[in-house]
Amino acid sequence: MNDKALSTRLIHNGDGQYYKKMASYQSIPEVLPIYNTSVFAFDDVPSVDAIYDHEAEGYIYSRIRHPNSDAVSEILASADEGEDALVFSSGMSAIVISVLSVVSPGDHILSSPVLYGGVHGFFQNELKRFGIDVTFVDFNAEDIEKYIRPNTKLLYTETICNPLMAVPDIPRLSQIARRHGLLFFIDNTFATSVVAKPLTLDADVVLYSATKYLGGHSDIVAGAAIGSTSVIDKIRGKLVTYGAILGANDSWLLARSLRTLELRVKQHSHNALKVAEFLEGHSKIEKVFYPGLLSSPDHERAAAQFSKGLFGGMISVNLKGGEREASTVIASLPTIKYVPSLAGTATTVSYAAKTSHRSFSKEQLDEVGITYGQLRFSIGLEDAEDIISEIDGALDRI
Ligand code: PLP
Repeated sequence: MNDKALSTRLIHNGDGQYYKKMASYQSIPEVLPIYNTSVFAFDDVPSVDAIYDHEAEGYIYSRIRHPNSDAVSEILASADEGEDALVFSSGMSAIVISVLSVVSPGDHILSSPVLYGGVHGFFQNELKRFGIDVTFVDFNAEDIEKYIRPNTKLLYTETICNPLMAVPDIPRLSQIARRHGLLFFIDNTFATSVVAKPLTLDADVVLYSATKYLGGHSDIVAGAAIGSTSVIDKIRGKLVTYGAILGANDSWLLARSLRTLELRVKQHSHNALKVAEFLEGHSKIEKVFYPGLLSSPDHERAAAQFSKGLFGGMISVNLKGGEREASTVIASLPTIKYVPSLAGTATTVSYAAKTSHRSFSKEQLDEVGITYGQLRFSIGLEDAEDIISEIDGALDRI
């Protein structure tokens, strides 16, 4: 190479061929490196044919799969006890693409009404454009089976429903899905595999906004889908077509974050229980929504299907008052930032009526119980007493 012109040497020295040299070394990197390559190179035509024909293993093009997406998928599949997993460029793309992989025009979906607002909007507005009908039913209050139609394909809910923390009966929903030949997809974002493993309760696909606890540091936007090989293969085809795979850098960051998932989510949960118990007795609070509280109508159900003593890090409260009181509290929290997301290391506060569920009409907000006096806290990893004292101080300002 060094007999070539400068421009040629700059282009070819130290390129992907270097990898072949490394393959003969006695050492390997302790941590999987970031594969910042959009494509893989081949020595000859048969080598690429063999990969396309599933006769050999190898990577071709990073929109299809790449080492970092595969490595992080391996961690995710194992954490949720699924056979396979995929990672996406966001939670929304994970959910939209997974749902679109299993429904066709003329099909029907049955969903709980209290969902992340973006997914609610997708169900209500986008799917309608493709001739797919969605019925929203309170899975805990209603006889679900009477809403199932001959064209129903999918049951959809969240393990801990955003933002009111309702907990559906997962084994019951799995049984209904089996009885009627439906698929059952569940968004496990608020719980994570540390709190609940819906696949072990016979759900078909677990979905995540990995932007939240899986990433855990508010520094990536990502999504995931986990399930059996057959259903994940079906979704993989659409993921490739729609081009929404998570890139190498964010896949690597997600893998790094997953190393501490259990430690973090346990601490988020322990802190949240202490904060929820404090808020429950507070004179400025009308109601606390947290499945870990003995007073919660969801407590027994949650305790039966969650890991022992863990109920997640998310708490919603109805203040005594409305928008004015909510704004006062938000503006009176010195370290607890107002952010329309959740699950970072720091405690944050959000306001569903003004952020995640902003697109809801007044009637829709009433229907699902979201009010202008309602705040949602994502309890972080600080000392619980410090979190309590800061929230107490802000409530005193009302
Ligand atoms: N599911 C839940 C429960 C969420 O809270 C969110 C986002 O807040 C999403 C899905 C969408 O995920 P993303 O923002 O990563 O696209």
